[in-house]
Amino acid sequence: MAYQALYRKYRPASFDDVVGQKHIVQTLKNAISKNRIAHAYLFCGPRGTGKTSIAKIFARTLNCTGENPPCMECENCRLSLSGTHPDIIEIDAASNNGVDEVRSLIDRVGYAPLEGKYKVYIIDEVHMMTSGAFNALLKTIEEPPAHVIFIFATTEPHKVLPTILSRCQRYDFSKVSHRDIQERLSYVCQQESVNADEEALSLVAELADGGMRDALSILDQCIAYEQDHLTIDDVREIYGVVQPEEIGNLVENLTPEKANDAIESLKVIENKGMDMKRFTADLISLYKDSLLQEMAAQTNLISEKRKQVIEKSFLPQPVDKRIQILNDLMNLYNKLAYSSNVMDYIETILLKNALWKPQTLVQTAPYPASKPMNLPRYEKQPPVQNPSEQKSDGKIQSNPQTINIVKNEKKPDLAKQFWNMNVSRETSEKAENHQSEFRFSEDFLLSLLVGATKAEKTSDLDHMKNGGKYLTDLEFAKFAKSMSGARIAASGSNYILLGVQSVLVKDNINGLEQSLGYESFTNQLLGKPKKVFAITMDEVANLFSAYKKRSAAQTLPSAAMIEVLLPSTTEEIPVEEQLKKRFENLTIQDD
Ligand SMILES: [Zn+2]
Repeated sequence: MAYQALYRKYRPASFDDVVGQKHIVQTLKNAISKNRIAHAYLFCGPRGTGKTSIAKIFARTLNCTGENPPCMECENCRLSLSGTHPDIIEIDAASNNGVDEVRSLIDRVGYAPLEGKYKVYIIDEVHMMTSGAFNALLKTIEEPPAHVIFIFATTEPHKVLPTILSRCQRYDFSKVSHRDIQERLSYVCQQESVNADEEALSLVAELADGGMRDALSILDQCIAYEQDHLTIDDVREIYGVVQPEEIGNLVENLTPEKANDAIESLKVIENKGMDMKRFTADLISLYKDSLLQEMAAQTNLISEKRKQVIEKSFLPQPVDKRIQILNDLMNLYNKLAYSSNVMDYIETILLKNALWKPQTLVQTAPYPASKPMNLPRYEKQPPVQNPSEQKSDGKIQSNPQTINIVKNEKKPDLAKQFWNMNVSRETSEKAENHQSEFRFSEDFLLSLLVGATKAEKTSDLDHMKNGGKYLTDLEFAKFAKSMSGARIAASGSNYILLGVQSVLVKDNINGLEQSLGYESFTNQLLGKPKKVFAITMDEVANLFSAYKKRSAAQTLPSAAMIEVLLPSTTEEIPVEEQLKKRFENLTIQDD
């Protein structure tokens, strides 16, 4: 017997054999059982996802005369299984796109079916039809004889005339999931007595990119190459596929410091004889999957192994950077067919993106992960005049009592520098766009998380419940009010990071902290003086996901060291005086 390609041999014969497309299969089954058959269907979706297979099964089921259709035994089923049923007519519009072909089709439409109950026209790649042919068909679709059913299949529904679209029941086929394809491949290998590693089948499923037919064709080719035992390396060799781990290592080096390493690993890949167009496609696919994984970590469209690579090498990069690279690579991919110097192009794109910087230059990350950095901008600024120097009337002589929690004196007081460096009071002309006045660098916020403990948070949560009783307190009302409704994102021994609902509340709290300080209030409320920082709930969510990634990449900053100044608690000094004193130690940048 002549060799039959796997995709033909394992083409589903009944609805139960179909891999994926569960919602479509169920709807069509219901339509048949309730005898609610439409006269025109449009099956849209990527190639190899089962559009024509399901169309044939639908036609077979409609014409079956046995019990539990399709019974596979009656005359209609046998004819349709062998592809010779006179009433199931397949037309490939890509080759039969002329008006004449459609005319002859229309001429035959009027005749009653020869064997079955329905005459089913399956028109594949219907978007390829000329508009003349479309128009000729239109009248027939408008008023078809009762025994005629049209099933149109297309990969490009946007090219189908709207007048046709509006007369069809439309079904959108989705890519078959990686897991479903792999399971099917496994089954086929069992049936064919082929010994194949699951890893190898997983890669085949990946290469097929959601198309069941492609998956079987690839498997066919791999089996022809290696008949005894198919391994992942066989598949890679046949298809010139670079391992995702290798691509991951390259991607990790896309920084100015490591760009040389990135280019070197690219050369290694090229020297192995890998197809660079395929490599570009793989790179695009990994970047694309990294965006999907970012949004839907539980997706089963990405294999577990691939997820691990993405988690390690791709997710630590900012989303903006990944989108930029993805755009560049996709532009490149379209040009690759016409270019001879592929390597130059790829190198250029990698180097360009190694130099990537965030577009909005907000004061980001002035603090490196380990050592404190010199902060030239801070030093260059003219010294802020000390309020106590301005009023040299001698009323304030002593410095306020300071609780210095900084253990290592050499390290800078992050909080103080933080106010100077990272809080940019926007100038009035910018104020109309409703952005927050306070922008914290990611590293600063992360350092707050790093220094936070669960015990502190539990204790703070407990104390926060009493916040309500300060709402009518003369001294503390504004502090208590500002914090009501806020949620604790993290608590350190001398600071607290709050998540709040709006930018307004955020600015209110940070403004209060900057001008007056929360120490006295937190001393009352929480039992010890703490600084208070606020960000919006959205920023909290982003911060936590940044924490996860940076933690995985081991690039978290060291714990924040916040200095807390507690004004003297002796009752002789009035509140106003205490506040004035606080200004001595808190420099505020107003320009
Ligand atoms: Zn039958």
